[in-house]
Amino acid sequence: MNTPRPAPDRSAAPGPVGEAAVGEAAALVSCAGVAHTYGSGRTAVVAVHDVSCRVLPTTRVAITGPSGSGKSTLLHLMAGLETVTAGVLSWPGLNGHPLAHPGRVGIVFQGPSMLPALDALENVEFPLLLAGIPDHRARELARGAMHRLGITDLAGQLPQELSAGQAQRVAVARALAGGPVLILADEPTGQLDHHAAAHVVDALLQAADEFGAALLIFTHDPVIAARLPQRWTMADGRLLGPALNPMATAEPARTGGRP
Ligand code: ADP
Ligand code: MG
Repeated sequence: MNTPRPAPDRSAAPGPVGEAAVGEAAALVSCAGVAHTYGSGRTAVVAVHDVSCRVLPTTRVAITGPSGSGKSTLLHLMAGLETVTAGVLSWPGLNGHPLAHPGRVGIVFQGPSMLPALDALENVEFPLLLAGIPDHRARELARGAMHRLGITDLAGQLPQELSAGQAQRVAVARALAGGPVLILADEPTGQLDHHAAAHVVDALLQAADEFGAALLIFTHDPVIAARLPQRWTMADGRLLGPALNPMATAEPARTGGRP
């Protein structure tokens, strides 16, 4: 599937034309000292603390860390689904908040996320319809995404008829169907065996290359993380990376106080 999409408009970069200005315009996500605290007072939980990083269209990164280290919270912040409680988070390469551009950010949620009354194909096409894509085109894109994941046989199944692993692959198809420029996947292989997990990672990497999209896979599974050319690590809400493997062509954070 090859979804036509307008190239990022770098001419819209504010400020003087220089390395920093161009780099800032190209960043899909820019985090500077970002934090998120749930609740307040004695029950406050600091889930993300002082995170600085930049996500470029070429970013292909696994964000690893133990359960509770803040991975899902950081993903929700980057997706615009949570708001920062400190620091600055912006989306220069998206030209605004992700929620204002439905379909440009593909999200695979960690937990169950299917609408129970819709079959698998309808679940995949639903966000496309919400984004204003015409019915016939939405169906075509949804079928293409399910084909990409090797799950066309699940099209007519209701969520309750799917195994957790099947539902997870439907969720990945849904995230990819609109040809996003930013793919945020939260434990996208958590319910899958090794073979199926490898196939899902292949599909995510291939889609990212095809769409020219950034790919961030949040996972606690080192086998999955090893498939990505870049690795960032979270611990206690902090982003410790980027810890890069030798082959990586990474874009380290340039904001905040980290190296
Ligand atoms: P991970 O995805 O790495 O497991 P999370 O981002 O889910 O980490 O959680 C980070 C911390 O924030 C944990 O201590 C978790 O208990 C807490 N947390 C997550 N969601 C909420 C919430 N809705 N309300 C309060 N605390 C939360
Ligand atoms: Mg999580």
